[in-house]
Amino acid sequence: MEQKIETVDLAGSDFNFANEVAQTEGGQQISRCFSCGTCSASCPVRRINDKYNPRRIIRQVLLGLKEEVLKSGFVWLCSACYSCQERCPQGGRITDIMTALKNMAAASNCVPDGVLAQADLIKKQGKVYAIDEFDNKKRVKAGLPPLPEEINEIAQLLSAL
Ligand code: SF4
Ligand code: SF4
Repeated sequence: MEQKIETVDLAGSDFNFANEVAQTEGGQQISRCFSCGTCSASCPVRRINDKYNPRRIIRQVLLGLKEEVLKSGFVWLCSACYSCQERCPQGGRITDIMTALKNMAAASNCVPDGVLAQADLIKKQGKVYAIDEFDNKKRVKAGLPPLPEEINEIAQLLSAL
């Protein structure tokens, strides 16, 4: 079977992008990546979504594909489980790099709607899933105390950060 070769257009590359990432906490070793793929083979997210590929994201950073990395939304799929980081033979802090990329994406207003909605829920309820009247009715029926639908202290704590 003929193998499909993927080409990369570097016309719009930002060759300072890798330097920017290298200056973040954990990003220092990014240039040591030799693309072995151990991170992708270890990744539980990749197991259920083969479009997500940490090795590819690291390569894109090294190639300066800043817009593609920050706008694609893939970095937000990283669950920060650290499986890749524990195994990288080059000491790459991949999880920390994903966190740095999320911060960069947020600074560029590239946050998926679902993530913004979860952030809003954390601010209001301290949880990523909505607690509503329906949930509380079920809790009370099961003999459990209802949970608050708003916790003002959390918003206060977050605003102090
Ligand atoms: S495991 Fe480390 S060296 Fe291998 S591809 Fe991933 S980041 Fe690169
Ligand atoms: S930390 Fe992120 S990239 Fe690394 S294995 Fe876990 S989900 Fe995948």
